[in-house]
Amino acid sequence: MSPARPRAAVIGAGMSGLCSAVLLAMHGYDVQVFEQHSKPGGLLHRFSRRGVPYETGFHYCGSIDRKDILGRCLAHLGVLDRLEWTPLDPEGFDIVRLPGREFAIPVGVERLRERLVDAFPHEEKGITGFLADMLEAIEHYGLYRFRAEIDPQSFLQWEAISVGDVLARHVADPELEAILSAQGSLYGVATHEAPFGLHAVIVHHFLSGAWRAHGGGDALADALVQRLDELGGELHQNAEVTRLLLDENRRARGVELASGERFAADLVISSLHPRLLFDLIPEEGVVRKAYRTRILDQKVGMSHFGVYAELDAPVQALQRRNLYRLTEDDAGCILRDIAPDDVPFYFAACPPSTQGRDGKEKHTLLLTCALGWDKVARWSDSRHGRRPQGYKDLKKNLQDSVMEAFLRDFPQVRPSVRRVESSTPLTTLHYSRSPNGAMYGHYHSVPQMGRYRLPQIIRIHNFIQVGQGVFTPGILGATLSAYYGCGYHLGLSRLVQELEAT
Ligand SMILES: Cc1cc2nc3c(=O)[nH]c(=O)nc-3n(C[C@H](O)[C@H](O)[C@H](O)COP(=O)(O)OP(=O)(O)OC[C@H]3O[C@@H](n4cnc5c(N)ncnc54)[C@H](O)[C@@H]3O)c2cc1C
Repeated sequence: MSPARPRAAVIGAGMSGLCSAVLLAMHGYDVQVFEQHSKPGGLLHRFSRRGVPYETGFHYCGSIDRKDILGRCLAHLGVLDRLEWTPLDPEGFDIVRLPGREFAIPVGVERLRERLVDAFPHEEKGITGFLADMLEAIEHYGLYRFRAEIDPQSFLQWEAISVGDVLARHVADPELEAILSAQGSLYGVATHEAPFGLHAVIVHHFLSGAWRAHGGGDALADALVQRLDELGGELHQNAEVTRLLLDENRRARGVELASGERFAADLVISSLHPRLLFDLIPEEGVVRKAYRTRILDQKVGMSHFGVYAELDAPVQALQRRNLYRLTEDDAGCILRDIAPDDVPFYFAACPPSTQGRDGKEKHTLLLTCALGWDKVARWSDSRHGRRPQGYKDLKKNLQDSVMEAFLRDFPQVRPSVRRVESSTPLTTLHYSRSPNGAMYGHYHSVPQMGRYRLPQIIRIHNFIQVGQGVFTPGILGATLSAYYGCGYHLGLSRLVQELEAT
């Protein structure tokens, strides 16, 4: 008789949970994934209105060439070729628009350097120095460079200095500083607090090539679920985990669901924000008091206001490119909350058109801005879909303001706007359970990263945390968190060898 396969329970079917599930299933585990929502994907998920799909948390990603880390991981997981990828414009995949200047960020660090020097010749030395620091910093992120080992000292050094520190060291022109830090909205931390190493990795992965997946976040999640299914794993939807089952030796033994069902497991992976973990462990003393206090004292990441518009025609200027629209020469405005009649910043993306139920092509426009949890917290006890009028009024005012800000910049789009919807941090909280509706879970700042990074392994045996709540954000961060997390169990060197052989 062959020995029984080890069992793994994965809590949450977002990017990190699904990648972990596939990795474990590839290595012989009998994997069960539990997702509280009615569909997989977590923050990746798409929603539809009248047959028109809208992306929420996946506009684009970088590095999906097989020679680059994300592409290699997705190939190793067996999903890269199941997806149809469209490159964004290599001559300018992200446009940064400032009050008096527009700058297109091209693929390639050297190409970016040349273009920046053309635009800011007086800053040539500083531009070269800033980008050289970026290339130096990424070398210390082990897995990002296909290495299992990491030199903690040099790595920590790049998370102990902020993007603001490195900018101040090299450049002085405020427009240039704003351009070099505008993509900070990809991790949602103020320039003076954002760890330079984190910024370097995220920006560098886009400079290696920016891509969209046909079918968006749903397609990515579905490909992972399909692969899991082929490997014998199972996804349970509408399956909220309410308790982590432990034995007397602080060993994870499985999970209990809201339905009361219990699933035994030899290994439990949680992709929840670590704050939510305490709800799953009613027992005293399992988690060190110091750890609990540390988590609860930490700042949660930024939250956002999303606008989703159906258009009759595509926005020509945003075909295969995104827009970072700053109203000041200061990337600080990216994190400033919008208010009725004040939209300091918006990010705009137009995914490829889709075919509607009526057979006509449908075009969408997605706008993302900062909106703090405190602006909606007073309605957090109300039910989704039945929020009070005050909340609806605020939402409508903000939606109108953001749309107006966009239409002032693109007046030609006005006649083609069909319908507009919006989301607040309460919406994000409702669908993903991300604390305070945070976009990126954790606030990945210098005081909360580097030597203060949250551990993936804690005092509970056979229990590992993955996801942007304990690691870095984005598709890349969620994926790498799964490799590092499962690497504790399967051996990171082994996973790196497999990646190299893929
Ligand atoms: C507006 C927005 C735009 C973004 N754009 C991009 C982009 O263009 N490119 C990019 O790379 N990244 C982008 N991101 C970030 C990216 O979406 C996230 O970093 C990533 O999806 C996080 O994955 P995760 O697995 O860490 O977390 P999550 O997706 O939050 O997964 C956690 C899962 O756990 C489930 N869950 C919670 N509690 C329970 C429970 N008790 N029981 C069972 N299940 C539970 C949740 O429902 C969820 O499915 C964006 C995010 C947002 C919000």
